[in-house]
Amino acid sequence: MVARKRTAATTSKRSPGPRPKLAGTRRSRPRTALGAPAVASGRRIGVAVLGATGTVGQRFIQLLESHPWFEVAEVMASDQSAGKPYDEAVGNRWKLPTPIPDAVRRLRVKGPKERLASRLLFSALDASVAGELEEHYARAGHLVSSNARNHRMDPLVPLVIPEINRDHLDLLEEQPYGEGGIVTNPNCSTIVLAMALAPLHQRFGVESVIVTTFQATSGAGYPGVPSLDILGNVVPFVAGEEPKMESETQKILGRRNGKGIEPAPFPVSAQCHRVPVIDGHLEAVSLKLRSPASRKQLADTLATFRPLSKLGLPSAPREPITVRTEDDRPQPRLDADRERGMGITLGRLRPCPVLQWKFEALGHNTIRGAAGAAILNAEILLRDGRI
Ligand code: NAP
Repeated sequence: MVARKRTAATTSKRSPGPRPKLAGTRRSRPRTALGAPAVASGRRIGVAVLGATGTVGQRFIQLLESHPWFEVAEVMASDQSAGKPYDEAVGNRWKLPTPIPDAVRRLRVKGPKERLASRLLFSALDASVAGELEEHYARAGHLVSSNARNHRMDPLVPLVIPEINRDHLDLLEEQPYGEGGIVTNPNCSTIVLAMALAPLHQRFGVESVIVTTFQATSGAGYPGVPSLDILGNVVPFVAGEEPKMESETQKILGRRNGKGIEPAPFPVSAQCHRVPVIDGHLEAVSLKLRSPASRKQLADTLATFRPLSKLGLPSAPREPITVRTEDDRPQPRLDADRERGMGITLGRLRPCPVLQWKFEALGHNTIRGAAGAAILNAEILLRDGRI
């Protein structure tokens, strides 16, 4: 048994064999009301970013620069980056409009499986290596908050959007990693769909869903899709995306039972497209509900969905879902950055002659759909006393 909830009892007892000394492990420190002594004392917790040089890794570095609870203490990437200062390893691949933070610029990039001191690791590793490396670090006692797809559908790994299914974090207690563990956030297009469906499913019950995506090129990492394939074009295929949207949505909206997660029973049919947009995934959604609802009831249910509003989590959007009434919103360029990239924007809510209702939903793929989602997951872990 495992990454259990760290109560005073569990933090003081066990020593499961030799481990690196992990900064941020609080076996002997008392919990505060927040479950986070370091936070209460104003001290930031040192964290590591795995895959720190990539598209999502850079977002972690940017978002954590001014984070009140976490600060980047270590960065890790492939052998080609290992040993170099971070700014040299990233080189001209740094594509964000803000500069590399001074505190990270000179950090030496660590290599795969190199020992890390931080207890909390954010993973933006390429999927070809994330599976093995995340398990390696979880076994070594680290808590990994991952973006990669590899462990999302593992029965004992929580696939979490804190607004929807934070109770799934209890699965950490059943993982075979001693004091370590793995928590995942959904694929960047799934998170937009799941956020839009969750309040409707909770109140009216979703019966079936059809979704068509228009996905930004930053979702493919760097250098991603060749410019000659995507400029002035639409590519009607995003490898692996459709099955991910269909199964991850059911897991997130599923229920905890004695054996794990029972997936939500409704079918999801996804068609995914890559479009020449830099950031922001737009999705056209049609759905059928179990109980009848008016347009006003749907709009009110979506707009008042604020399950985290009292928890004081730094990355939680004040307004998780904004419902727009204009005919031509949401748009990636105008709406993806809402709530510092953590908000979902929904519009064109109207009757569907085939199912019942249809709308457009939009979210920032590398913030709400990746780095920001993993940071929010870590905030809820810390708040719940699990770090
Ligand atoms: P990316 O730009 O290609 O970056 C991949 C990162 O993985 C780089 O830091 C790279 O380091 C590192 N890496 C590659 N091989 C490695 C190895 N053998 N050992 C250690 N590190 C290695 O990819 P990305 O778009 O940021 O995506 C990262 C992860 O997030 C993927 O699993 C992806 O599916 C997921 N994701 C991406 C998005 C998105 O919108 N982009 C959204 C949700 C989830 P080097 O620079 O040293 O090669």
